[in-house]
Amino acid sequence: MTELQQNLSTIKSNLLTGVELVAVSKTKPVELLMEAYQVGQRIFGENKVQEMSQKHASMPKDIKWHMIGHLQRNKVKEIVSYVDLIHGVDSPRLLREINKESVKQGVTTNCLLQIHVAEEETKFGFDVDELMQLLKTTDFGETYPNVRVQGLMTMATFTDDQKQIEKEFEMAKSIFDQVRSEVSHSNLEMKTLSMGMSGDYQIAMNHGSNMVRVGSSIFGSRN
Ligand SMILES: *Cc1c(COP(=O)(O)O)cnc(C)c1O
Repeated sequence: MTELQQNLSTIKSNLLTGVELVAVSKTKPVELLMEAYQVGQRIFGENKVQEMSQKHASMPKDIKWHMIGHLQRNKVKEIVSYVDLIHGVDSPRLLREINKESVKQGVTTNCLLQIHVAEEETKFGFDVDELMQLLKTTDFGETYPNVRVQGLMTMATFTDDQKQIEKEFEMAKSIFDQVRSEVSHSNLEMKTLSMGMSGDYQIAMNHGSNMVRVGSSIFGSRN
C-alpha cells in the first residue's frame, strides 16, 4: 500500500456507519487520484470546473464527480452532463441556472443547498430565513423540475475552538431536521447532510453528518 492508500484506509476506518466519503482531490494530479481509485474510492470532490472536467475526461467512467466549490453560473453548462452532485448551491439564481441547463441538456442534476452557520462573514450560503423562504415556495417543484435537492451542505468556522465548531454543526443538523419535517416537494429528497473536512469530520459525524469531504488527510497538504 502507498502512503496515500494508508491514509485513505485510516479515514475509512474512522467513518461512522452510513457516512459517505468524498475524497477532495482539488489541485492533485490524476496519478494520485488513481491510487485512491485502485483501493475502491469512487467519489471525488473538486472545486474548479475546468480541473474537474479534465479529470473526468481522463479517468474511469464509474467515478462520481462532486463539485464542492463555489460555482459560477456561467460554468454550470460545462458540468451538468456528468456531475453527480453539486454541493455549494448558494442562491436561487444559481439553482435556476442549474435547472435551465439541465432542461436544455435533458438531465436531472443533484444539488445540495449550502447553508451559512459559520461566524465568518466570508462564507457563502443561505441563512436559515433565506433557505426556508426558498424551500417554502409552493411551486418549488414546478420551478426547478430538473433539479433534485438532496440535502444541505455547510462549512464550520476555521478555528481551533471545538465548542464553536460543535455549535455550528448542531445548528446545521437542526436546520436539516427542520426542513425534513416541514417541507415537501417532488424534487426534494432530504437525505444528505454534507459537513466535515480533514480537521473536523469526526465532530461533524458526531453531529449528524452523513457525507464528509476530506482532502489533505488523504492526499497531503496543498500549496
Ligand atoms: C478543500 C475543501 C475541503 C477539504 O478540505 P481538507 O481540509 O483538505 O480536508 C472540503 N470542503 C470544501 C468545500 C473544500 O473546498
